[in-house]
Amino acid sequence: MSLFCKNTSTFKKGGVHPDENKITSEIATRAAALPKQVVLPLSQHIGAPAKPVVQKGDKVKVGTLIAEAGGFVSAPIFSSVSGTVVKVDTAWDASGYKRPAIYIDVEGDVWEDSIDRSEKLEKLSDHPELTSEEIVNRVRANGVVGMGGACFPTSIKLTPPPTAKATCVIINGVECEPYITADYRLMMEHPDEILVGVELLMKAVNVNEGYIGIETNKPKAIALLENKAKAYSNIKIVPLDCKYPQGGEKQLVDAVIHREVPAPPAIPVNVGAVVQNVGTAYAVYQAVMKNKPLFERYVTVTGKQLHAPGNFLVRMGTPFSQLIEACGGLPEGDNKILAGGPMMGKAVTTTDVTVVKGTNSVTVLTNTDAKRKEAQNCIRCGKCVSACPMGLEPYLLAQLSSLKDWERAEKEDIPSCIECGSCQFTCPAHRPLLDNIRMGKGTVMGIIRERAAAAKAAADAAKAKEEKK
Ligand code: SF4
Ligand code: SF4
Repeated sequence: MSLFCKNTSTFKKGGVHPDENKITSEIATRAAALPKQVVLPLSQHIGAPAKPVVQKGDKVKVGTLIAEAGGFVSAPIFSSVSGTVVKVDTAWDASGYKRPAIYIDVEGDVWEDSIDRSEKLEKLSDHPELTSEEIVNRVRANGVVGMGGACFPTSIKLTPPPTAKATCVIINGVECEPYITADYRLMMEHPDEILVGVELLMKAVNVNEGYIGIETNKPKAIALLENKAKAYSNIKIVPLDCKYPQGGEKQLVDAVIHREVPAPPAIPVNVGAVVQNVGTAYAVYQAVMKNKPLFERYVTVTGKQLHAPGNFLVRMGTPFSQLIEACGGLPEGDNKILAGGPMMGKAVTTTDVTVVKGTNSVTVLTNTDAKRKEAQNCIRCGKCVSACPMGLEPYLLAQLSSLKDWERAEKEDIPSCIECGSCQFTCPAHRPLLDNIRMGKGTVMGIIRERAAAAKAAADAAKAKEEKK
């Protein structure tokens, strides 16, 4: 019997309630048309870029390895189409930079024979060969990364450091970002595969408790998964109040198991939780049970002025322009196109940018929706402080970033900012808080990394000297 929790809960600190605008929630997912060419960036994950193992002229199939992991924190990349590699070059990505990418011209749709394309639901109980180690190996080999946007290689999260002991897996089915409905559609359309994916994740980290947190604005998904979860005694569906940014790892841990994750470098597993997105649970199912590499994903293409917004199953490397065309094309006038939703998404400078492992949405805002009001002086109202889910002082962090006072910004814990934008959303003076804090956080993180590298080099040199004696 499943353990259905009737009472809702949420995280304690801060949070806001932006308009939901989930205009695509009841639109069933359809497969996006194959593009003429895919462009697959080598950095689709946190960590080292993948290293190409193909070159111009090579023929590939859907699911062929085209780039291997470039280090311990990295992930391999697989072709999402069949065709011919035409070049390894650079391409614009959603971060606004040109980065190395593999270009493939599409020819037909021929899949690697090793991928099981059947619809048959594989159950964990039918696969005694799946040890924890084997699950992690298959997840790693198939290039699975966090699908909620963070893109951290999943296999690493499934092998926590010896100092931390996992006690549960928490699945993020919250989708609190306005407009986006890709995870909701996935839960409605593939609940069985998601539940087996949760079991696999639980087995991988040797825990017997699994939770799926879903906000109460998705009653159909809660009801469906609660019904399906009756077959799983150790997976509990947890309805959560609607509050942004509940999908943040630390906020989700607080909302679901009421434990507080300390400041960085602490991570959820330090309080026992391994957190994964619902899309990751599905990708894990496909990787482990179907030997299917991560080369396609659910993407919401949305915006109030789009003629026909929708949810799509999209091959990685498909350009945003093609998805927008499938929704009736760009509305007239100036538009702002975001990779992601309006709170955390990044504005792209060209619709040539392509879908990658972390693209959950392409959001088109008209200039009227997107236009920011002119920033006024801070009136010290403290609303940004009340809204911050990390307990930070956003007005101060933004000011320190503008002043380039990196030492003080670090002392004020700028690395803890999760870039949720709640502060900026709530500011009555329309201060560009997130923009400034994001810039400052990037610089401070760089300083911290350099300091750590210098300390490690000094320790290594001292050790080498000691060994010589
Ligand atoms: S963007 Fe950072 S500072 Fe602003 S509310 Fe979110 S966590 Fe706090
Ligand atoms: S919400 Fe805006 S005006 Fe109020 S304290 Fe923060 S930065 Fe200042």
